[in-house]
Amino acid sequence: MRVSSTSTRYHPQQSVLYPQAGHRQTACMRNISLPQRSQSILSSAAGWAQEGRDAASGRGVSGMGNYSYNGGMSRLFAEADYAALRAEMVERQIRARGVSHARVLAAMNAVPRHCFVLGDYCASAYDDRPLPIGEGQTISQPYMVAAMTAALDPAPDARVLEVGTGSGYQAAVLAHLAHDVITIERHPRLAARAQEILKALGLANVRVVVGDGSLGYAEAQPYAGIMVTAAAPHVPETLRAQLALGGRLVIPVGSTGFQELIVETRQAHGFNREVREGCVFVPLIGAHGYPDRGR
Ligand code: SAM
Repeated sequence: MRVSSTSTRYHPQQSVLYPQAGHRQTACMRNISLPQRSQSILSSAAGWAQEGRDAASGRGVSGMGNYSYNGGMSRLFAEADYAALRAEMVERQIRARGVSHARVLAAMNAVPRHCFVLGDYCASAYDDRPLPIGEGQTISQPYMVAAMTAALDPAPDARVLEVGTGSGYQAAVLAHLAHDVITIERHPRLAARAQEILKALGLANVRVVVGDGSLGYAEAQPYAGIMVTAAAPHVPETLRAQLALGGRLVIPVGSTGFQELIVETRQAHGFNREVREGCVFVPLIGAHGYPDRGR
């Protein structure tokens, strides 16, 4: 497999994921003082969680760690207030850092990120950082979601594969841009939660699959784009093989402590490789990723 490298743009200061950072906040309304409460678009799904809910705290009480679902938290603020936070996020965190892709900016403005974070983090949903989502995993920093989506640049008729569903937020952004999105997650609970949220938001062009995404998802290949949202030790040949001609693969590659964002484009006789910015993601665990050490 021939890979030619054409450009290098390296910004190691843009380290984007800090999965170990707790940033735990327990009272959303203490952290952001917004004027009104309202029903959210997910309020109809308030009873959808498979877990129990503590009546006083609204937190989940089943054996799912500190999971708490958004049906409770997303009623705290008016949708208009979230929309204002989102618009500010797009301007200050994304456009100001050089992402100018109009369709990507529109998608980032459209997708309600607060619906994808855990309830304890509702006030931080539009902050410039990743947040915990359970199972030791994270929802990525908004800037990184935008930068990777712009790098993938899916056409409206494209089929794309995302490896690492996590919260489902990145898949929702892709769903606004591509024709259909297949997203694969190794943690069944995260996959189930993401699917519920995507369904509640009416994003019918996303299919959530449980499995080892380092193997890709051959059933629906070829893909116009494949995005991996976890850190890989190398570019898996399985993913390269599932790209259509002209298709792009966007993937963080490196050690578990630090990676570079790689963009490979399938050409007639090999792959063109670009190295973008430095980043830090949780590891890709699987046959073509890092070994599973209970992560
Ligand atoms: N894109 C996600 C979002 O929008 O919330 C964030 C992804 S999180 C940084 C990385 C995800 O990749 C985790 O949910 C993790 O469980 C998942 N993951 C790691 N290895 C995987 C594999 N081999 N197949 C599928 N998912 C994997």
